[in-house]
Amino acid sequence: MKRIVFLSGTRADFGKLKSLIDIMNRDPGFEVHIFATGMHMQSRYGGTVNEIEKCGYPNIYKYINHLAEISMDLVLAKTIEGLSGFCQEIEPDLIIIHGDRVEALAGAIVGSLNNILVAHIEGGEVSGTIDELIRHAVSKMSHTHFVANDIAKKRLIQMGEEEESIYVIGSPDVDLMLSEKLPTLESVKEYYEIFFDEYAILLFHPVTTEVAHLEGYTNALIDAVIQSGLKYVVIYPNNDLGSHHILRAYERIMGLPNFRFFPSVRFEAFLTLLKHAKFILGNSSSGIREAPYYGVPSINVGTRQHNRALHDDIINTDYRTESILQAIHRAMSLKPKKVELFGDGKSDVLFREILNSENFWNTSKQKHFRDLVEWKNSD
Ligand code: UDP
Repeated sequence: MKRIVFLSGTRADFGKLKSLIDIMNRDPGFEVHIFATGMHMQSRYGGTVNEIEKCGYPNIYKYINHLAEISMDLVLAKTIEGLSGFCQEIEPDLIIIHGDRVEALAGAIVGSLNNILVAHIEGGEVSGTIDELIRHAVSKMSHTHFVANDIAKKRLIQMGEEEESIYVIGSPDVDLMLSEKLPTLESVKEYYEIFFDEYAILLFHPVTTEVAHLEGYTNALIDAVIQSGLKYVVIYPNNDLGSHHILRAYERIMGLPNFRFFPSVRFEAFLTLLKHAKFILGNSSSGIREAPYYGVPSINVGTRQHNRALHDDIINTDYRTESILQAIHRAMSLKPKKVELFGDGKSDVLFREILNSENFWNTSKQKHFRDLVEWKNSD
């Protein structure tokens, strides 16, 4: 019996881990644990640990890693402390982390420094903000990689990772996105009391390296959505450095009839809302990775998803009100082609197969940097 720990710090990584947790939880060869921390434990951001609990998984360990003042380095330190103690107690064979958050970095550090195998889901991608630095650092501290496509695999090889340690399984959130079991729009609207016929989704996060300008950027964005005259389902930003600027600026439109605010919406319900939205606006990965699957227009504001918008139909804009308004007008008449850039929804099955292979468990914890070319002193 192998004991495996999934670490989840946000709704964003939980949606991507969920199909993997489900399938491994049903496999009798594995004992699944979930270390839930980060935004899941913050009521201000929806207290989304409830969503994990509602799934009925056994062995959920809840850990509060935030402090009164959000300082991401201290959150990292606290997560390392909590996870390290947890791992000493349950002695896992594998830690599974996702993406580019400080919690994932804590998972990779605790695993690699304690000789516990680490599997990183969805490395090898590019973006802006501090995520870009964290994601590649996590990859370097992880022993194995489960990536969304061949481009991500090539990037990891470029970073010196060994090809045999990289498995292309697609993005696990696609497993749920393409599932037949998503709730109906009517049921979601009823549950969340959304009484709009037509609506767009607004989801805007801080860019940690642009904090000084964030308030201005958010106000320009708010001006654009007000002037558009459309109705919006607005989801709170994540808890990265600067998020309070966004929340404070939102106070201007909270309670207005065209806006319906939520700290967070359950993943499957969010997907249903996205599928039926006129467009999604902001800088969430959802606009880049999920909207194209549903053929929903996507407006990507600013630098957060830098270089990640691979799809021609994604409308990129800067932070100015006029640019955003223009993008909104374009989005209203755009009919993007549906494209599957990150797998076809079978990541969970592939993941289970790999975790059941001897090869995977023979992965050496001593990593070796693989040069792409043979360097000589004279180069
Ligand atoms: N998401 C969700 N509920 C929400 C908003 C987003 O489940 O209320 C999911 C969304 O489908 C996507 C992920 O969370 O898979 C993106 O999250 P977010 O925009 O918070 O973070 P990012 O990935 O851009 O860092």
